[in-house]
Amino acid sequence: MVSNSAGRIVILTGAGISAESGLQTFRADDGLWCGHRVEDVATPEAFERDPETVQDFYNMRRRQLRDVHPNAAHEALAKLAAYWDGEVVLVTQNVDDLHQRAVAAVVPKDTYQFYNMHGELKSVRCVESDDVFPWEEDITPESANPISGKAGTLRPHIVWFGEMPFFMDEIEDALNRCDLFLSIGTSGNVYPAAGFVQRLRYLGRAHTVELNLEPSNGTGYFHEAIHGKATEIVPQYVARILSGEII
Ligand code: NAD
Repeated sequence: MVSNSAGRIVILTGAGISAESGLQTFRADDGLWCGHRVEDVATPEAFERDPETVQDFYNMRRRQLRDVHPNAAHEALAKLAAYWDGEVVLVTQNVDDLHQRAVAAVVPKDTYQFYNMHGELKSVRCVESDDVFPWEEDITPESANPISGKAGTLRPHIVWFGEMPFFMDEIEDALNRCDLFLSIGTSGNVYPAAGFVQRLRYLGRAHTVELNLEPSNGTGYFHEAIHGKATEIVPQYVARILSGEII
């Protein structure tokens, strides 16, 4: 149990939290993401080699977002953002917008912060100017940078394997201040996120909890591990936090 009353919570989420909304996790059963090898769709080399296949893959993922909704786990975390008096920092590896939609349905405290460290499907980036634009539609060869008007320069605003995740300084600061760390729906295979729990164990101040369908790769690093469906175990754990039982 955590004794520090400052109550700073950092939450890391992965594809597992969106699985019950209908979005496939990364490795599912077959080692593929929606039928594709990672090297074919989620690396800068793949984009250079075959931009059409990569754009198609992310166009499909972006379109999928129209048919899915936040689930009880996203909603429970939004509740934490709205009701927890201390700091809540939500860091997601997901590129869907389900956390954002769940939080938009509440009034988050000023102390809530959100970082999508692997980017987001609903933004595009110009490879020439580095400008980022909100984007709902497919990216096609005719899609133009809204400022310059130049076509053919837009890519998904997604961190591919081999690229540096976003917000690493902010996340590092949050980990340094953290009293309670929850890792939800992530397999612990993708670094640097998979290393956050090890960093926290080294710092020695936070209580660390894994909430996942099954033991993750890093399960042994956590003080506590609860296994089950995110829509069940996350609302239960959030209720315990809000009741003052945990922190
Ligand atoms: P991962 O697929 O490697 O691991 C998902 C984890 O979630 C697994 O350990 C699995 O057991 C668990 N899980 C599955 N269903 C669950 C459920 N109902 N409740 C609780 N846990 C459940 O995912 P990862 O660790 O996030 O790494 C994958 C990478 O691929 C990320 O970087 C992410 O950017 C990307 N990705 C994103 C999405 C998305 O945005 N929804 C989907 C797939 C992949």
